[in-house]
Amino acid sequence: MKMDRRTLLGAASASAAAGVLGGAGSAAGAAPKDQIRIGVEEAFSTQEHMKAMRDFVDAHPEVTRFDYKLWRMITSNLKADTPRRLLDLADMRLKEMDEYGVTMHVLSLTSPGVQMLDPDVAVGVAQSANDELAEVIARHPTRFGGLATIAPQEPEKAASEIERAKTKLKLNGVVINSHTNNEYLDNQKFWPILEAAEAMDMPIYIHPRTPSDQMRAPFDDYNMGSAFWGYGMETSTHFVRLMMSGAFDRFPKLTTVLGHMGEAVHFWIWRLDYMSAPGVARGETPIKLLPSEYLRRNLRITTSGQENPAALRYSIDVLGAWNVMWAIDYPYQEMPSAVRFMDNAPLTQEERDAVYWKNAARTFNIDL
Ligand code: MN
Repeated sequence: MKMDRRTLLGAASASAAAGVLGGAGSAAGAAPKDQIRIGVEEAFSTQEHMKAMRDFVDAHPEVTRFDYKLWRMITSNLKADTPRRLLDLADMRLKEMDEYGVTMHVLSLTSPGVQMLDPDVAVGVAQSANDELAEVIARHPTRFGGLATIAPQEPEKAASEIERAKTKLKLNGVVINSHTNNEYLDNQKFWPILEAAEAMDMPIYIHPRTPSDQMRAPFDDYNMGSAFWGYGMETSTHFVRLMMSGAFDRFPKLTTVLGHMGEAVHFWIWRLDYMSAPGVARGETPIKLLPSEYLRRNLRITTSGQENPAALRYSIDVLGAWNVMWAIDYPYQEMPSAVRFMDNAPLTQEERDAVYWKNAARTFNIDL
């Protein structure tokens, strides 16, 4: 068969795309057979959470925002693939983890957690989700860790829940799904949450959700408010607001975590330093350190849903291997491709162990 120019170009562009997307994965993994793998952004839900979300979207039939549409879809058929996998905390999940060599899932209640719900409902659903999570971990202590859900709508109660999650439930951190009723963590009304997280040594995983109302308009078309683009813009902006508010000067030992390869914040590392010179952005709120110093001290990033070897290499080079953790983003992303990506990533074995599990164990106080 004669290959014409178009066929050749087609083949070349297909292989370039395969490079970005991680390829066919036919190469043997560089990871050893006994590789430990801890995924740190793995979603679950509970029947009570599903019902609360159903009641909430049912009570607001006029809202057509992306997250409302998504939750109408998720809760309309709990037997469909995604809700079924979110609600399953043993059978399917453990079987698949075994099949692909995933040692542990650090679980978090799926986004937006309880942050859309009315405050009273939110506080209750958060507590019982944390109780259920602690029970699942107690049944499978070597397979699951967990991040506590809180209701930032009630900052003082959220702070108490962080303490309960650490001392009574032995959970490993906290998840906050970006904005709460369009407000961000730089708002000092939320600082009791930051104070508790720092005091309890509970990292805060700032997980994406649909952009706030203030920044929604440009994302409303083309389904851009989704994980495709809007989630990342919302969450990266949230982190930068928090950093520029001086929160990390007030709470210097606070650890935050961003998924999706740091929501791209550290790709701006040089420009963040350059543009925040005194008298420019830093004129308003004088932060004590350079942005790059907070990125290396108060932030860990994860690989959830970004199976891109070049981006991983860059992240390790600028932040250090000790600041990067592996995550799958199950069930929204698939276990086999996330494993194949990290098994084959161009890393030394020391770096691979750091990213695959050692950094997670250190950051979230996981005792294997
Ligand atoms: Mn996720």
